[in-house]
Amino acid sequence: MVSKKVRNGRTYFLCDMCGLAYGEMEKAVQCESWCREHPGSCNPDVVKFAVQLS
Ligand SMILES: [Zn+2]
Repeated sequence: MVSKKVRNGRTYFLCDMCGLAYGEMEKAVQCESWCREHPGSCNPDVVKFAVQLS
């Protein structure tokens, strides 16, 4: 399952496999299912929606 994280009043969804954060739960779910099937790689169509949490 993806993780939820609140940062600066916004909710983000984290892929539990690679740790990337997304503004939409749907994208985090897509990322996680990709990461599970293709360990060590990222799906560019999904990763472009990732947001930087710093
Ligand atoms: Zn991922």
